[in-house]
Amino acid sequence: MKRMTKAAALVMAAAMMAAVPVSAEDTLTFGTNPEFPPFEYVTSNGVIDTYDGIDMAIAKAIAEDNGMTAAVENMEFDSLLVALQNGQVDAVIAGMTVTDERKEAVDFSTPYYTATQVMIVKEDSDIEKAEDMADKKICVIQGYTGQVCVDEMGYEYESFKKGTEAVMELVNDKCDVVVIDSATAQQYVSDNEGLKIVEDADAFGAEEYAIAVQKGNTELLDKINASVEKMLEDGTISELAAQYAEVEAE
Ligand code: GLN
Repeated sequence: MKRMTKAAALVMAAAMMAAVPVSAEDTLTFGTNPEFPPFEYVTSNGVIDTYDGIDMAIAKAIAEDNGMTAAVENMEFDSLLVALQNGQVDAVIAGMTVTDERKEAVDFSTPYYTATQVMIVKEDSDIEKAEDMADKKICVIQGYTGQVCVDEMGYEYESFKKGTEAVMELVNDKCDVVVIDSATAQQYVSDNEGLKIVEDADAFGAEEYAIAVQKGNTELLDKINASVEKMLEDGTISELAAQYAEVEAE
């Protein structure tokens, strides 16, 4: 029989590797989109490789709590749940709000953080309520719950891939308002001169962030929930939230 060439052997080995799940037994792979400070962002020396933020610290703690090592897959926010469904990642942690639509596709952990949508505007803006956006140029981020909210209000908007891109539009007077999650908005306002946050609790409800797992993966969900609940009870998560909000604002 003809011997396999080295190249053919490598191709075959790669194919065999691709067929097994990405995660080794002791690695817990989280999908995220690190464009969402203070929850996830890229830095030179993060808690998991180059990834840092509240979510990354939580992910690392969950893995360690279960005798595993956390790994991160960096992907587009829009692709996270599909990657989870395909088994490319074990879980998704991405400041992701629990919604009925998403619940049809995946299962969510016990929520670990409560947020709301807010409006970022220029300091001299006359926008005081959500309805003041009616005749304004609105920017949102593609696939975020902020986009869903503005959509439901029936207003036109332009969507961007990253929060920073939308905020730059506002800074450069190319739009009047960016609708985005509260803690992230806070971050952008402290990073850029001349911006402020406008809240409207009547228009924007509370949103809860949770970790997603594949539908029916109760084994992993139980582990994640046990760790999350422990960190909620002992104050770890609120400490992390306060700590990262401060670090990032510096
Ligand atoms: N909480 C928002 C959502 O779930 C934004 C999340 C994010 O950008 N990471 O859509």
